[in-house]
Amino acid sequence: MKKKVTDEQPRVHFDCSKCPAFCCSLYERVGVTKRDINRLARYFGVSVETATRRYTKKHDGERVLRRSEDHLFGEACIFLNRETRGCTIYHGRPAVCREYPARSRCVYYDVYRFEQRQQGSEDVMPLVQITFRESKRAEVVGPDGREKIWEWKPEK
Ligand code: SF4
Ligand code: SF4
Repeated sequence: MKKKVTDEQPRVHFDCSKCPAFCCSLYERVGVTKRDINRLARYFGVSVETATRRYTKKHDGERVLRRSEDHLFGEACIFLNRETRGCTIYHGRPAVCREYPARSRCVYYDVYRFEQRQQGSEDVMPLVQITFRESKRAEVVGPDGREKIWEWKPEK
């Protein structure tokens, strides 16, 4: 039976089944908690120590899922199926993956669909990359008085 959509139900404007999994590929860090690792251990029927060692690593002091080579984005989560672009551990995936993008729109899906329409082809895939930099808005005195400018530290 077709599900009836009511005003109370959140509507989503993205379709993960039609997406090459930007979220599983672009982010260098998919953080895992102790609870996530316990879930992974149960899912694979291995000890917590084995799950920690085999499926996770430390990245800047944070425990994250391991990544491996990906023909589309260079690297992606080890649990991403490279052909179907679906999660191979759907019922064992970490909380952060369950919640993402936590809103009714997914910016990557929007860019994906936007570019397909712009380029007039369903076969187009924009190679999006994301890098985080610490930045702040600083107030400076310019020739025309005070103004706010963006400041960020360039990488060494
Ligand atoms: S990038 Fe967005 S649309 Fe694509 S799989 Fe992730 S959440 Fe779904
Ligand atoms: S665990 Fe699954 S949903 Fe999470 S990043 Fe990896 S492939 Fe994507």
